[in-house]
This record gives sequence, C-alpha cells and structure tokens, in this order.
Amino acid sequence: MSLTQLARARVQALTPYQSARRIGGNGHIWLNANEAADSGQFNLDCARLNRYPECQPPTVINAYAAYASVAPEQVLVSRGGDESIELLIRTFCEPGQDRILITTPTYGMYAISAETNGVEVVDVPLSASRQPDFDGIIAQLDRVKVVFLCSPNNPTGDLVDRDGLLRLLDAAEGRALVVVDEAYIEFCPEHSQAPLLNDYPGLVIVRTLSKAFGLAGIRCGFTLASPEVIGLLLKVIAPYPVPDPVAQIAAQALSDQGLVLMRNRVNEINQLKAELAEELAQNAQVRDVFAPNGNYLLVRFAPGSDMFARMSRAGIILRDFANRPGLADCIRITIGSRAEMDAVRDVLQKEQ
Ligand SMILES: *Cc1c(COP(=O)(O)O)cnc(C)c1O
Repeated sequence: MSLTQLARARVQALTPYQSARRIGGNGHIWLNANEAADSGQFNLDCARLNRYPECQPPTVINAYAAYASVAPEQVLVSRGGDESIELLIRTFCEPGQDRILITTPTYGMYAISAETNGVEVVDVPLSASRQPDFDGIIAQLDRVKVVFLCSPNNPTGDLVDRDGLLRLLDAAEGRALVVVDEAYIEFCPEHSQAPLLNDYPGLVIVRTLSKAFGLAGIRCGFTLASPEVIGLLLKVIAPYPVPDPVAQIAAQALSDQGLVLMRNRVNEINQLKAELAEELAQNAQVRDVFAPNGNYLLVRFAPGSDMFARMSRAGIILRDFANRPGLADCIRITIGSRAEMDAVRDVLQKEQ
C-alpha cells in the first residue's frame, strides 16, 4: 500500500485550497489576495519566549472586545479567521451526519474546511441580485448546523440584507448557527451585524486582522458570539493557538494609535477604490463593476477579454474568477498602494 493510500479516503480525494499565495505568479505587484499594501511598525519583547503563551491573551481579547463594542466573554482569538471557520465546523458538525450551508459564489474556505472534516456542504447559490436566497436557505435547513454568510461577500462585495438575516436567525433558532463573515467590515463599519449579537445567541461573526489592519502575515482572527458558543469553541481550540509575538503585535494594532492607523488606511483604500471604479466605468472593455464594499473590486470584462493576461505581462497579479459559476469574465482587483493602482490604470488605458 502506498503512503497516499494510507491517508483517509476523503483526504486522498481533496483538492487543496488554491490560495493566492499557492497560485502565485511572476509579477511584482500583488493584487490577488486582498492584502493591504503596508503593515505598520511594531515592537517585540522577546524576554518571555521560553514560556508557552496564554490560550486567549487577555490584552488582545479585551482590546478587541472594546473595539467591537462587545463583552470580552463574546470574543475568541484564533489563527486567522480561517481557524474560526474550521473551529465552528469541528465544534458543531458531526462528520458524516451534519451539514453546513453556503451561498456561492463566496469565500472558498467554508467548503474546504467542511470537506476536510467529513461534513457535507449544501449550496444555495446567491440570487440574481447577489443576495442570499433566504427562503431557499430556510427550506434547506434539514441537518444543517452552520450557515455561512459573508458580508461584504468575497468576491462579489455585496452586503447581506438585514431583514433577510433576521428572518433566517428566527428560522434557525435552536437548530443552526448563522455565521456572518465580516472579514472586510472595516471598509464599511456601519454595516456590521455585531449589534445583533446580544439579541441572537445563534449569531456568530468572524473577523480578522488580515485585511484592513494590514496583518495577514501574523495570522490573527476573531470570533464574536454568545458566551455559550465561545465556551464550546474553547473546548476544541488548540491549547496555545496564538503565538506570543502575534499577541503583542495584535494588541499594538488594536491600541488607540493602531486603530487610527487602520482607519487612515481604510480611508485611503476607499478613496483609491472610488477612483478605480470611475476609471473602470469609462473603459470600453468593462461590462460590470460589482459592489465596492471591501478592499477590492470584482470586475466583469467583455467576453474573451485578455485583460488578465495583459495585467500579468505588466507584472500585476490579479485573481481570476472566470471559471466560477456565474462569474464568467470576472477578475477581482485588490486595492493596493497608489503606485500600484497607477500601474493598473496604465494597463487599462493602453490599446483599448
Ligand atoms: C481573508 C478572509 C478570511 C480570513 O482570513 P484570515 O487571514 O484567515 O484571517 C475570512 N473570510 C473571508 C471572506 C476572507 O476574505
């Protein structure tokens, strides 16, 4: 028997997540992973690295709770938002029995985490107006333990409709968790669903420092939920999930000064995004620019457009969604620095 055949059957059958970093590319301008163009400056104290870190460093938990206007008991810190997604599935879904529900096109990690853990995925695709089909979701809740919504949605940028969400929360009460992934919420903070947490104990919100905070490299994310849900996740999480240097950097990023830097970065990105949207609207090759609520724009180009290849030849790596259902000819452009956006504009304006 080969070692591959020794692995669990479902692992043998898995296709690993095609993360932007794995796909890579030859360019020098990386606008394919919704990262920030800068991270800021941090100080590290290495005096206590001989000790295991705390499972849930209080400095980080308290700072994030204050930032998100929730109680510390409603916060869990993990290795990125991705670990939060995985923990929710491992904590609530019985392999081979329970299911998660997703609404494609959306973030790929919900399905990947479910499949790795032997949990079936039900897909209720977004409607023509790119909203979750709330009636369809409510009709499909049988054996579903976790519903994943994403707002702003990656890659389409749309926000989840609050009335629909409330209807779903009522229908799912006592049966399934409703997760709203707010990885990009800093770019439109007035649309957070966090204020609903106190009224809906089955609501869970996923957050991250990877996007607006510019810290994808430290792998730090958060779950906001009722203390009961947080308590269950704490039973499953690894004993030392957050390395001490990560906790130090996260606490600095969440300080008053860190939040000012983050908000300045968000303002700059939103400004560059508006300028790019205007530029795209005037381009003959562009058919559609999707909702501008994150740090990216999903753009539909004319059928058969060679824009992805042209950008690539100019060293600009974008994320191609063309082969996803409903996203023919669509490319997602991360909003980077002003210089990077100028490079994008140069390619857009050439040989139209
Ligand atoms: C980037 C992202 C995450 C989490 O990213 P981490 O780097 O693991 O914190 C979660 N959800 C969506 C939709 C994302 O785009």
